[in-house]
Amino acid sequence: MIIRQTVSRLPVLLLIVLQTFAVTGFAQSRSIVIKNATIIDGSGKPAFRGDVRIKDGKIAKIGSFKAAAGDDVIDANGLVLAPGFIDIHNHSESGLLREGTAANQVSQGITTVIVGPDGGSPFPIKDYFAKLEGKIAVNVGAFIGHATVREQVMKNDYTRKATEAEIKQMAELVKQSMKEGAFGLSSGLEYDVGFSASTEELIALSRAAAKHRGIYMTHMRDEEEGMLDALREAIRIGREAKLPVQISHIKMGNRNVWGKSAGAIALIEETRKSGFDITADAYPYTAWASTITVLVPSRKHEDRAEVEKGLSNVGGADKVLVTSCSAHRDYEGKTLEQIAASQNATPVDVYIQIVKDGGAGVVCNSMNEADVKAFYMQPWVMVSSDGGIGSRHPRGTGTFTRVFGRMARENKWFSLEEAVRKMSAMPAARLGLKDRGLIKKGMKADLVLLDAATVIDRATFAEPQLFSDGIKTVFVNGVRVWDGGKVTSNFPGQILIRR
Ligand SMILES: [Zn+2]
Repeated sequence: MIIRQTVSRLPVLLLIVLQTFAVTGFAQSRSIVIKNATIIDGSGKPAFRGDVRIKDGKIAKIGSFKAAAGDDVIDANGLVLAPGFIDIHNHSESGLLREGTAANQVSQGITTVIVGPDGGSPFPIKDYFAKLEGKIAVNVGAFIGHATVREQVMKNDYTRKATEAEIKQMAELVKQSMKEGAFGLSSGLEYDVGFSASTEELIALSRAAAKHRGIYMTHMRDEEEGMLDALREAIRIGREAKLPVQISHIKMGNRNVWGKSAGAIALIEETRKSGFDITADAYPYTAWASTITVLVPSRKHEDRAEVEKGLSNVGGADKVLVTSCSAHRDYEGKTLEQIAASQNATPVDVYIQIVKDGGAGVVCNSMNEADVKAFYMQPWVMVSSDGGIGSRHPRGTGTFTRVFGRMARENKWFSLEEAVRKMSAMPAARLGLKDRGLIKKGMKADLVLLDAATVIDRATFAEPQLFSDGIKTVFVNGVRVWDGGKVTSNFPGQILIRR
């Protein structure tokens, strides 16, 4: 058993050894000393002044000391030095293959992205990792997607419950992916492929992940009127399969549930008090981004009354912005209301037409700031972007700087130290990453040097790709990937596997 496991992990291990050589090649010759930094170490403890030495890709020393001759010295002059940000819900899967520099990620301080959320992941994971080897600026880890394994087994015939035999096959694929280094199983139960799965199917697959110390991370079946039931389902899956649960982008998704975050928070609190390990993540915006069809949960996309209800639930057609539509490129950047007016049609007509023609990506401004805040204030809610390279929602480029600059510094929802903890040590702990997420001797030197007084997101719905202000230098494994407002084109990113 042990031998088999070692053999199957060999390619991944080999890859990591190779990467380590590549990184030490970069960093070994000189050590970098960052002087006079305001260190926010990720633990949540108060910031302190100090110097940090980076050597061989790791944090070698913290304190007050003199640089040696030959050191590469950076005078931080009071700038904040924080652990690199870890994004547990990131959609850069294909983006990383095109753009390994990951500019819109490192420009907001992200040093680790975890891909494969919402039930959709690369497959096989080890082949994906092999393609990234030596070509990425950030560290990358992955979840195995429930919809991904479901499609592997059921092909196009997924709008039904799976048979026992199919579930067994899927569980094998989950097991294989866990051995290849996945951090757990992700699901996206609001989307077509995951929607028809029974709770029992999810429990069976989660058991396969649990055997390899994975977690269950879920975009739940319902984030609106049925949110609490969906939350209960996620908890049941975790309890029966005996693994921790991560609720993805926790939210109250439409007007009918505005102000009801308290119920969800109470349920999670009560579950945590019982000793069950459940946490969540959230992005700092009141608008979500998804496929247009999630607006009509009954899936009766040609039923005018259902479409009407779906649009009114989010506050009207003016709240729905089309961001991508391959059949109607001219709709992109317009709301359903604007498109309807230009076509002399009703928004319901436009919706039905778009779905018939293949659908669209939309951004929908249907959440309430008070609920976003209520969730964010919880010590068990971490920051995630749900964005990535090429995202059409500003969260792809602005999430981490927005939480730091707006939610913490300007709105004072929590301290800067707590903001950093939510972006570093907390996701690291959730993922079981023992050598990242803190500024501590011996940890990997994933670091962000930022100006705490000015750091802010600039990405907007009109210009979602605008880089943030205030992120000065970003190190991944001790190597600069972002410096002086631009990427360096170094590729020190490593593949991270569940240990
Ligand atoms: Zn999602």
